[in-house]
Amino acid sequence: MTAVTCAVKPTRIEAVNTTLVIVWDDGHESYLDFEPLRRACPCASCQGERNVLVEFRPPPPNYTPASFELTGWQYVGGYGFQPQWRDGHNTGIYSFDALRQLENRP
Ligand SMILES: [Zn+2]
Repeated sequence: MTAVTCAVKPTRIEAVNTTLVIVWDDGHESYLDFEPLRRACPCASCQGERNVLVEFRPPPPNYTPASFELTGWQYVGGYGFQPQWRDGHNTGIYSFDALRQLENRP
C-alpha cells in the first residue's frame, strides 16, 4: 500500500512577519521562514522532474525580494497547503507532511 496519509494536520496557520507559524493537531508548532519555504517549492518548474535514473534540474528560478513575500494561501483537498507569493507564483502545493518536515531541514 502506498496510500498517502497525513499523520498530522494543521489546525491553524498564521503569517507573522516573515515567518509562517503552523499549529498542528498534535500540539506541535512549526516556524517556517518564507525564504526557505519558497526555495523548497515543490512544483515542477522550481524543482524539475525527477525519476530514479535521471534528475533534471531547471535553471534556478530568478528570485526577487517579492518571491519571498507571502500574500496568502489556501488549503488544497484536505492534504496540502498552496501559498501565493507576491511575484505571482502559486503553483507549489506542499503536502502537510512535507510542511511538517521542512522545519527539520538544516
Ligand atoms: Zn514553484
